[in-house]
Amino acid sequence: MSLAEELNKIRDELQTSFDSGVTMPYEYRIGQLKKCAAMIKAMEKEYFEAVQKDMKKHPAETNGTDLKFTESDLGYAMKHLKGWMADQYVKTDLVNKIDQAYLCPEPKGVVVIFGAWNYPVQLALSPLIGAICAGCCAVVKPSEVAPSSSAVMKKYFDLFLDPLCYRTVEGGVDTAKALLTITWDHIFFTGSVSVGKIVAKAAAENLTPVTLELGGKCPVIVDENTNIDTAAKRIIWGKCVNAGQTCIAPDYVYCHKKQIATLIEKMKSHIADMYGEDPQQSDCFARIINKTHFNRLKSLLSDGTIAVGGTTDEDTHYIAPTIITNPVLDSKLMTDEIFGPILPILEYEDVQSVLKYIRSKQKPLVCYVFSNNAKLIDQVKKRVSAGTLDVNDCLMHMMVPTLPFGGVGHSGIGKYHGKATFDEFTHHKSVLHKPIGMESVNNLRYPPYDAEWKQNLMYSLAYYKPNASTGTGFAKYAVTSTMAGAAFAYAYAWPGSGASGGSQ
Ligand code: NAD
Repeated sequence: MSLAEELNKIRDELQTSFDSGVTMPYEYRIGQLKKCAAMIKAMEKEYFEAVQKDMKKHPAETNGTDLKFTESDLGYAMKHLKGWMADQYVKTDLVNKIDQAYLCPEPKGVVVIFGAWNYPVQLALSPLIGAICAGCCAVVKPSEVAPSSSAVMKKYFDLFLDPLCYRTVEGGVDTAKALLTITWDHIFFTGSVSVGKIVAKAAAENLTPVTLELGGKCPVIVDENTNIDTAAKRIIWGKCVNAGQTCIAPDYVYCHKKQIATLIEKMKSHIADMYGEDPQQSDCFARIINKTHFNRLKSLLSDGTIAVGGTTDEDTHYIAPTIITNPVLDSKLMTDEIFGPILPILEYEDVQSVLKYIRSKQKPLVCYVFSNNAKLIDQVKKRVSAGTLDVNDCLMHMMVPTLPFGGVGHSGIGKYHGKATFDEFTHHKSVLHKPIGMESVNNLRYPPYDAEWKQNLMYSLAYYKPNASTGTGFAKYAVTSTMAGAAFAYAYAWPGSGASGGSQ
């Protein structure tokens, strides 16, 4: 059997399960979520070892940024699942007062989830939790770039989750390409902008909805009016977690001219506090995932002046936490996503020039600003379009489950975390449920259009009216007493009226 046939067979099997309705009850979904909770506990030790092997990441960092994060998403979903699954009734207008109007959440169907290697469990399991909550069946493809983590995930996902509804497929680019030839009800992809475009093209063939969790360059603005020591610590931490291999890592910093020297001094000192004088000896600092990325990052070191760090070790894929000043603006360092522990720092005098620069680039996944100046923060909020604006911290917006996470423009399409993940895998079907009676009122809309008052009455009852002079909203239900009288006369006295309750 060819790879494509094998994958198609899996898809067909999941479709059969989905069509059987097995994923519809709350009890089934919460049952699978409980399995996820047990699975996370069971895989912990092996997973920490696997991530150590792939990236030499400290288990505490893997726990906090990957496993515990996913566990928290899971706990939040378990707490809210019943409410998310319930029909949501919406307000109705006067003319629909006796109707029922609501949104019925229905699962999209059989979906595929492409994970990424930098936070392997989080980036595969968090979307899967949302798919389970929504009642979808799913194929998950962990990234081949972190092979040890991928193998552990495959082992435990297969062991704990219902194989009739959830499958894990390991493989490289060939597998990813083959998966994209299949028709899915939703594609959830985490990865680079360039592959994101390939995914979007494949999805367009079948008008498949997509979530694209992509990357790009996340700028940081450091104002003169801020606590520079704290800003330096938070930025360095955000940059060095996972050795900078984080989609929301600060990519480059624009610092006010008056503070740039202090910022660099403070950053240097915080690097030493967190990782020692020689970070290569620290077990808290991770390594670059593979030779390709190592070489790519190493080549960026010559795109400016090295102010801190700059050492590398090819054998272990080590790149020191590095600060670069005077980066060349049209170099790869400043045009490509860095995705490593290298931080270019530029200076500014007028923040307007920084806003102009950021606006001239693709819209970032996150924009960071450190300032005590409410006016400046407000300007950044209004002038910079980004997936998220994080003020005075780095990465921590991820910890708020009520803040949907995702990009805008080139940094992505769609949002997830918390209820947003459930919504991403759900079609909220609009339902209008009318009683079959009251046909005399409904008669207003049918031909013949012989009486103008009928139409005027209908417009007054059922249509919104923009108020062109005040612009303050809509003048609704402008029912004059004459019209109301006519409506009653019409409803009750019309020959064959159903107003008295009869259906016709
Ligand atoms: P990538 O795009 O190279 O790979 C992601 C997936 O795409 C892998 O599963 C791979 O098998 C598949 N793939 C690769 N080439 C393909 C092709 N030609 N056709 C079809 N599929 C293909 O990304 P990466 O290097 O693994 O991850 C790093 C990128 O992901 C960075 O840009 C980072 O910012 C981004 N990222 C984003 C988020 C987020 O949540 N927004 C999270 C993590 C990483």
